[in-house]
Amino acid sequence: MPLCRVARRRASWSAGVLAVLLAVPAGAERPVDYRLSFPEPHHRWLQVEVTFPDLPPGPFDARMSRSSPGRYALHEFAKNVIDVAATDGAGRRLPVERTSPHTWRVADHDGLVRLTYRLFGDRVDGTYLAVDTTHAHLNAPATLMWAAGLEHRPARVTLTQPPGRSWTVATQLFPTGDPLSFRAPNLQYLLDSPIEFGEIAIRRFSVPTRPGGPETTIRVAMHHQSTDAELDRFVEATRRIVLAQQAIFGELPDFEPGHFTFIVDALPWAHGDGMEHRNSTVITSPSSLAHVHTALVGTVAHEFFHVWNVERIRPRALEPFDFTDANPSRALWLAEGITSYVDRLSMHRAGVLDLEATLARWSDVVDAVVRGPGRGFRGAAEMSVMAPLVDAARPVDRTNWENTYISYYTFGAAIGLGLDLTLRDRTDGRVTLDDDLRAMWEVHGRPGGEAPGLVARPYSMDDARDRLAEVIGDGDFAADFFARFVEGREVVDYARLLARAGLVLRPRAPDRAWLGDLSLEYTATGARIAAPVAFDTPAYAAGLAQDDELRSVDGVMLDTATRLVDVLDRRVPGERVRVAFKRRSGERVDVEVTLAADPALEIVTLERTGATPDADARRFREAWLSPAGATRQP
Ligand SMILES: [Zn+2]
Repeated sequence: MPLCRVARRRASWSAGVLAVLLAVPAGAERPVDYRLSFPEPHHRWLQVEVTFPDLPPGPFDARMSRSSPGRYALHEFAKNVIDVAATDGAGRRLPVERTSPHTWRVADHDGLVRLTYRLFGDRVDGTYLAVDTTHAHLNAPATLMWAAGLEHRPARVTLTQPPGRSWTVATQLFPTGDPLSFRAPNLQYLLDSPIEFGEIAIRRFSVPTRPGGPETTIRVAMHHQSTDAELDRFVEATRRIVLAQQAIFGELPDFEPGHFTFIVDALPWAHGDGMEHRNSTVITSPSSLAHVHTALVGTVAHEFFHVWNVERIRPRALEPFDFTDANPSRALWLAEGITSYVDRLSMHRAGVLDLEATLARWSDVVDAVVRGPGRGFRGAAEMSVMAPLVDAARPVDRTNWENTYISYYTFGAAIGLGLDLTLRDRTDGRVTLDDDLRAMWEVHGRPGGEAPGLVARPYSMDDARDRLAEVIGDGDFAADFFARFVEGREVVDYARLLARAGLVLRPRAPDRAWLGDLSLEYTATGARIAAPVAFDTPAYAAGLAQDDELRSVDGVMLDTATRLVDVLDRRVPGERVRVAFKRRSGERVDVEVTLAADPALEIVTLERTGATPDADARRFREAWLSPAGATRQP
């Protein structure tokens, strides 16, 4: 493995520590030992005791992470830590100094430091942590302090039952003889391992690792308030997704603890989220299974595909993950965006999303990217590297992302669709995106790493381009595709490519008069504009901006009873109307505006337009979208 970013940084400021560590044979040090207890779960905090043994002499720094694997922005997990105290191997109290917002220093010790701290947490999602009387839902970087220099040490995590309760654990940590005690081979694996400890139901199913191969166990650990029948339905849909995605690669990865675990919290106080990990995923939703079945299965499809794409086929910028900083990568259009294309594709192939719903999703994707003004400023690779700016909690200052940004999920999904169709079009279906993904898996994913949690051959953008060149047998094509559609700002000719499958890309409502896709909040006196107004719209040309209040259109006053859509319904594109509005400053404006035609795009089947696809189109569509579309073996 190449010397990692974290290791390089460490070498520059503590070569002495490294020298001492290198003098100790690998594996000779005892594990870092974590003990988590929940004396008052109703008050939503936990107690952590962590013992760092076999330390080199000199100051010892323990730190809380600032970021979490699968998140690309900063989250500052130190904010809820209190009562940090330290003792040495003899149990003597040691002074602790907070030397940075994330770091606690013990200046001197006898080779062992035992830290205790209390941690408040009240957010059920994939990033933070929550403790209450029903569970402890723990994302590891939000929970566990760690020490630079000990990244390769194994760890042990032991949970204590809260008073009077008997909870169950679901985690990708490795089991031990003790059902409440687990281990991790190194820090990367430890911090990638969420823990759900609570009133959960665990369902299991097994699927062949590869056709004719040994069985792999998949577990669904569900913390929910739904019925057993709803849970059964969810587990069955999950099984079908697993099989549809396995067919793309011809095999499942080796899940090192002996199983893969979906940790699902569908609770009224949860926040909607999905977060991939190496051998597990966390899915959270404030709605019950019955209400969000398809959406949750969509999250299953997205997160499970990450066991290949991201967890093992890993962008170089994310390997190893840097817990002390944001983790920007130019490849998120591939890591997240291609995943967002394949999640819906595999749902359709698995029979859990019909063609109409699949096309509706891709309509939104193609519409957002083809028409999005953000594409005028940057391509998918640059959108990817902006993740730390865009993904974090709502910024204090306003942004204009509506005009200058397109999510790398959406942009990448459009590239995935475009690349899949382009490959199928150029080769008459002999080469597909499935082949490209399989090539990425064979070269970058399947070789694995020196230990679970480490990836030996993460890919660069050049690697991704080279794999594409190999599967299509055309280096110029791959270079051109990356230059124009990934680094550049062009989009493929979706209309022509979709036509190959008997699909039509067309304006959804070309006869509808349109002022812009305005986000409006109606009041008794008008409609307040609640988001930035998009460039290249009649509303923008009229001078409208966020916080202005639209008062009347064509003399008709707007209010909670009379909406803009009601007025525009009586107009046609090209008509000129008077628009009256009040700026945020109080200034009143009355202008004449030419109404445009609604430019929103949709993808529909040729059948819906009244025509019939020919045999070629039917074959193309079948090979792409049917379950058999991905059944070739590696
Ligand atoms: Zn994702």
